Amino acid sequence: MTPALHRLLTCAAIALSASLLPAGATLAQEFPAPGKVISFVLPYAPGGPTDKAARDLAQAMSKALGGQGIVVENAPGASVAIGAAKVAKASPDGYTLLFTHIAQATLPTFFRNLPYNVDKDFEYLGLVSENPMNLIARPTMPAGTIGELVSWIQANKDRITIANAGQGSASHLCGMLIQSALKVDMTSVPYKGTAPAMTDLIGGQIDLMCDQTTTTIAQIEGKRVKSYAVTTPRRLTQATLNDTPTMQEAGFKDFSVTIWQGLYAPRGTPAAVLRKLNDALRTAVKDPDFIRKQEQGGAAVITDARLEPAGHKAFVMSEVSKWAPLIKAGGVYAD
Ligand code: ASP
Repeated sequence: MTPALHRLLTCAAIALSASLLPAGATLAQEFPAPGKVISFVLPYAPGGPTDKAARDLAQAMSKALGGQGIVVENAPGASVAIGAAKVAKASPDGYTLLFTHIAQATLPTFFRNLPYNVDKDFEYLGLVSENPMNLIARPTMPAGTIGELVSWIQANKDRITIANAGQGSASHLCGMLIQSALKVDMTSVPYKGTAPAMTDLIGGQIDLMCDQTTTTIAQIEGKRVKSYAVTTPRRLTQATLNDTPTMQEAGFKDFSVTIWQGLYAPRGTPAAVLRKLNDALRTAVKDPDFIRKQEQGGAAVITDARLEPAGHKAFVMSEVSKWAPLIKAGGVYAD
């Protein structure tokens, strides 16, 4: 055989074997392609707790993938519906992912016409972390303790403002439970994330807010906001908050709110791509630097079965069922 004929036959054999592979298999073989950037779509404004968690994860997963570029793309609006719908409709190639929190489980009840389906439109990549929330107030709030704050709320019930990051957000959920427990109707002020809301709280334009401890701790330490209670059934061990009472200790019966964050791909992403992303996620959550950053903020990284796609999906579906009756009892919908 002449060298030219050998080259020709080799090229033909490669072309033939590539054409026999399903499209997803070739994509998976070269995933992630060098120089191609993975995007975490983040449905809140920059600087808030969800954004912070996404950026920490992007850094750790980039390391796990040998330096692959991972960017966080903020796409706030319509609670989280704009960002989540963007990923649900994105090309299922592993380069456009959704990083979101508990709103993945609350929006299907808050929005009766949600433009995506949390059960059918996503591949679940794994739960990343979970963390408590913290009831905080403007620095000029006269109350010193949660008991005094409750008295202040009762005395001022007609003119209290409470910030949130849109319906179904963590801050909204927490604020809703507080109002229903106290039978008080505050004026809810929606923002595109709790970072811009925090600016107004610090400035005294807003009275109250619940936010994740991953963001509140630095503001409490800087004495820019007042802190009253944490939303988990147990007190935190984290130094800044370890003498802060729980909502349950303050008399809010059964009050328990824990926020979680997870990573999602569009439905139809090839299984081998999903495996590579989940491998990188599992490596990232063992990264000491990632763990330290989460724990500093009172968050815990996930180490149980929810780190795997099946466990993640089962957990989110159980959260949809858990929150639905409480949201329906409020009778307020986003659409
Ligand atoms: N903390 C926000 C929430 O209330 C969202 C954010 O800006 O991270 O859901």
